Amino acid sequence: MDCIFCKIGNKEVPSKILFEDDSYIAFLDQNQETLGHTLIVPKTHYNDITEIDNYTLKGMYDIALTLTPILMKKLGCTGISYLINYGDSQEVKHVHLHLLPDYLKSKSNKTVDEVYDMLKEEN
Ligand code: AMP
Ligand code: ZN
Repeated sequence: MDCIFCKIGNKEVPSKILFEDDSYIAFLDQNQETLGHTLIVPKTHYNDITEIDNYTLKGMYDIALTLTPILMKKLGCTGISYLINYGDSQEVKHVHLHLLPDYLKSKSNKTVDEVYDMLKEEN
């Protein structure tokens, strides 16, 4: 299947990976809507939020809860929005959860490489 998120999951396409296990991959969105904008993706292909099972959805949520304090600490954001698009709002038809760090609504002025370096720096 010609799916960009399947290709990222099986490493055919590179991404800025923040978390990975056998079932999920979390990586920086290439278009940093806000600084630290992250996508959490199951490696199994489900088209959208109506197709995914509750167990897999819960796993995405658990990763979001793990990444949230890391993003807040390392990037200094004051909040995070969790977002799942569906239908015409969903550009990539492989279900994913957006984490959108909130800086009192200011936009990111950093590139994806710069943000990745910030997150991968040792404490
Ligand atoms: P959505 O509208 O919810 O389907 O959002 C899809 C998101 O995937 C957008 O924010 C894109 O910037 C992001 N995206 C698409 N291709 C890639 C890629 N190769 N690497 C990282 N993010 C991507
Ligand atoms: Zn896919």
